Amino acid sequence: MTQTFTKTQTSRQKGHEMSRPGEKPDKGKMNGSCNRFACQAPGATWYNHSTERYYCERCALDINNFKPPGDTFLAALGHDLCTPPDFERQSKP
Ligand SMILES: [Zn+2]
Repeated sequence: MTQTFTKTQTSRQKGHEMSRPGEKPDKGKMNGSCNRFACQAPGATWYNHSTERYYCERCALDINNFKPPGDTFLAALGHDLCTPPDFERQSKP
């Protein structure tokens, strides 16, 4: 049986950036601007595991406060949706 190697690269384009007017270019990036459009405060260091973007501490804590009951994503995550910058350092050796 011959194995046909199908090279289907389904590499999801992570940087699907659509820059809206009034949106900072470093929005949602590490040490960039907060991913919340209405906020966009500088120094975004809190990582949101759902949106995979960075937020300022105020917005991150705000997001963490919102915990819908029976949220499967949160349950699978095992920790808060947004984690502080030192959280990643803890999980990475
Ligand atoms: Zn913010």
